[in-house]
Amino acid sequence: MRLAPMAAIAVLTFCAVSCGKRGREDGAAPTPRAGFSWPAMGTVAEFEAAGDPAMAARMRNVVADAFTEVEEELSLFLTNSVVSRLNHGETVEVPENGHAATVIGFALETAEVSGGAFDPTVGPLMRIWGLRGGGGALPPLNVISNTLASVGWWRVRLVPAGQGRVRISARGAEIDLGGIAKGYAVDLAVNRLAEAGRTDFLVNLGGNIRVHGAPATGRADWNIAVRDPSGRRPPSPLPRHLRSGEAVATSGSYERFVEINGKRFSHIIDPRIGTPVDNDLASVSVIAPSAMMADAYSTTLFVLGGKAGAAFLAARPGCTAAFIKR
Ligand code: AMP
Ligand code: MG
Repeated sequence: MRLAPMAAIAVLTFCAVSCGKRGREDGAAPTPRAGFSWPAMGTVAEFEAAGDPAMAARMRNVVADAFTEVEEELSLFLTNSVVSRLNHGETVEVPENGHAATVIGFALETAEVSGGAFDPTVGPLMRIWGLRGGGGALPPLNVISNTLASVGWWRVRLVPAGQGRVRISARGAEIDLGGIAKGYAVDLAVNRLAEAGRTDFLVNLGGNIRVHGAPATGRADWNIAVRDPSGRRPPSPLPRHLRSGEAVATSGSYERFVEINGKRFSHIIDPRIGTPVDNDLASVSVIAPSAMMADAYSTTLFVLGGKAGAAFLAARPGCTAAFIKR
């Protein structure tokens, strides 16, 4: 059994092609840029900004604080997080516009419109497949079906509690926001910087990227490439450049997986059947108007596969997908 380290994802998955061409196209002085990289939320965070490096360092601190704040509330592993309290059977009351209500609300909405391909209650299935450590053996069929009995997004209740608050419970189920929370954290960071009047930067948390402003003087949009999962081909550019405010997320089977009897099993589960996704896709990237949407939809499309995934996305304005086959 092997779980690939999360830390590899951000650095290896993406390559902002704009990095290689930061100067003005008329040959004038290049735009100064600063880049930072640090561990956050079990993966690698990256921040890149044009302009004064001291200001960029202060902006990076805003991003890091936003990530810490989201982690404290939504982590599966921190005992006092809202998610841990829900998973211990508590009913939790939180602000309706806060982190937990926003992310769980959008996770449930995505679960419903995807017919359960995206499901924030996959946790117990992750465990029986050894995707949370341990494991190393195929779970017997009866274990899969018994576990499926405790999986289902409809068990999670999110109801208004008045005065701008909501009440959330997850009776008999377990919440796992691994497929969506990083994207939300990126949005929080980008929005805080934008509200403070900052511009011309990129935030990346484990392959969940959002841009704001321009990558360099004289360039309006961001050219981002996705690493070829097999390593056989050069990074492939996304179907289009990102405009200011847009996001892209990639889900794949190649960097986080468990190996059982020599076969690799993806860390993305098909909750409809209780097994890791095993289709012809190596990765899916989704461009969307927000990083939370890109994150949730890239996980969804990886489960749905190319054809159903493309149909799902066609109904969502501002979203574009790129599939890389195995
Ligand atoms: P991502 O890398 O964003 O595609 O998310 C993968 C993570 O989301 C996994 O590590 C699990 O924590 C969680 N997850 C796995 N399968 C699903 C699913 N079908 N729906 C929602 N979350 C999932
Ligand atoms: Mg995701």
